[in-house]
Amino acid sequence: MRKRILTGDRPTGQLHIGHYFGSLQERVKLQDEFDTFILIADVQALTDHFHEPELVRRHVFEVVLDNLAAGIEPEKVTFVIQSMIPEIAELTVFFSNLVSLSRLRQNPTVKTEIALKKELFGNSVSYGFLGYPISQAADITVFNADLVPVGEDQMPQLEQTRELVRKFNRIYGETLTLPEGKYGIFPRVKGLDGKAKMSKSLNNAIFLADSPTQIEAKVQGALTDPQKLRVNDAGHPEICTVFTYHQMFSPGIEELAGECRAGSRGCRFCKAQLTAKIIETLAPIRERREAFAQNLSEVKDLVSEGTARAKRVASETLNRVKDAMTIQYF
Ligand code: SF4
Repeated sequence: MRKRILTGDRPTGQLHIGHYFGSLQERVKLQDEFDTFILIADVQALTDHFHEPELVRRHVFEVVLDNLAAGIEPEKVTFVIQSMIPEIAELTVFFSNLVSLSRLRQNPTVKTEIALKKELFGNSVSYGFLGYPISQAADITVFNADLVPVGEDQMPQLEQTRELVRKFNRIYGETLTLPEGKYGIFPRVKGLDGKAKMSKSLNNAIFLADSPTQIEAKVQGALTDPQKLRVNDAGHPEICTVFTYHQMFSPGIEELAGECRAGSRGCRFCKAQLTAKIIETLAPIRERREAFAQNLSEVKDLVSEGTARAKRVASETLNRVKDAMTIQYF
């Protein structure tokens, strides 16, 4: 029996190179070793996009296409649409009794995200958003996931899941699988504007589906060292977004930094070189995406079958949960 891994994406936009380097590449490697469930987390997306359900709906299959484009093989994974597994919502309710409001408010990831979403929530964050780590714990445990790929910033989330599972098992008896973190390298990719995070909402992302013309225009606008105005000026690659992307797309090209510092490399040339490299790297990904997009009904069948398989697993888990809680009445 292979161990099961749960991973996934929020369908709030197409996936970009930040997702590719941050999680998709790793996910593609893991699919051979683990029974991989990929959750398309539409319910979670609605916690902060409740006013835009059409946007969430539109991106459910876009995100599946991005995964397939990145190298996920249909026969190796199980795609699951979160809202089609009501057992997750049920388990969320049972878990809700096992965590205090103050514990949720102290979760560092939630705290950071609430601060980022001040515009949406003002000073009164919704019950659903505050509680999404509970729902996330239900996502993981309802499918008996053994492992969850996490980056450093997601460790508090996983710890909250582990606390809930331990507490449930202590009160009701050993019922649920205690998940472990699968720590990989999840570098946070900077946005084109140099901001700490690449994101669709910040309008600073290069998407996997972008055309060569779009990539070229975006790299042209990327933030460089603002003090390097002429080719011969000495630059500071460590503060340059273009250099960060060079390191991602062509690891090991250390001489580039030396040329920049020595004033023997111009930003225009540097950007053209990067543009060519990004276009070359993304070309096969874009081609695969287009091929899958032309067979969208097959992709939908794939997701439908995956969701049905996942539902069977979730239903068995909920039966065990209700048995343990002595709330099976008939
Ligand atoms: S030469 Fe390249 S690395 Fe140096 S500042 Fe310009 S774009 Fe950045």
